[in-house]
Amino acid sequence: MKGHTVTINSTSSAVIQMNAVSKWYGAFKVLNEISLEIQKGERVVVCGPSGSGKSTLIRCINRLEEHQKGDIYVKGIELNDSVKNIAAIRSSLGMVFQSFNLFPHLTVLENLTIGPTLVRHMKRKDAEERAMHFLRKVRIPEQAHKYPLQLSGGQQQRVAIARSLCMEPEIMLFDEPTSALDPEMIKEVLDTMIELAESGMTMIVVTHEMGFARTVADNVILMADGNIVERAEPEEFFFNPKHERTRTFLDQIL
Ligand code: ADP
Ligand code: MG
Repeated sequence: MKGHTVTINSTSSAVIQMNAVSKWYGAFKVLNEISLEIQKGERVVVCGPSGSGKSTLIRCINRLEEHQKGDIYVKGIELNDSVKNIAAIRSSLGMVFQSFNLFPHLTVLENLTIGPTLVRHMKRKDAEERAMHFLRKVRIPEQAHKYPLQLSGGQQQRVAIARSLCMEPEIMLFDEPTSALDPEMIKEVLDTMIELAESGMTMIVVTHEMGFARTVADNVILMADGNIVERAEPEEFFFNPKHERTRTFLDQIL
């Protein structure tokens, strides 16, 4: 551990700042000098072909993966080997995965209170109140006492979102949150995410739901082969992309 206090040493106002970040899996370079700034309240959608490094990019931001070159700052705190820094950064980030990653042996309510009570030492009653607040937000308060596997996929994903929100993150990272869902359940999860975006949450969302991107994104990013090929406002990205690679990608998915 590098000292006991978290030092703010970024010079940028961005809540997420990546400077020439590279990462390899063995000899394979998965992220190639990625530079990226995201401001507070910004909603950024990341798309791109399978294997282009989208998951790795957002997993590096909360240190589920370690980058090997370049710097990452979250709220001005450098993501390095300092355990304090990593803990401080993780406490401001929420993450929602394609697979919902709920604890199957805990009820929905217990899934939502375990973090706040164990990690944040909240009183059970307060944690339960907060949990019910967010279950109402994602419109499934009536499911509180069920187990995850008794819920539909769309409901489970909304529980996963509510569970993240119970930890009061400032930034939410989503990695293809609707990819594992049946088509009829996609909308209910996207609607939840749209409401979250409208509440002012800073969000990075890896998704191929281009309707969502057009509705809420401030910026859309195309990744290919570990590079950010294009970053533009949705209007520009979809209707006047600068790069051939973006056009080819859009032709494939639209
Ligand atoms: P995407 O999310 O855009 O589909 P990923 O970030 O998951 O892409 O993966 C990018 C590339 O890195 C892929 O070629 C993938 O096979 C490879 N990769 C991902 N995770 C690992 C790992 N843990 N070890 C080795 N290679 C990996
Ligand atoms: Mg992925």
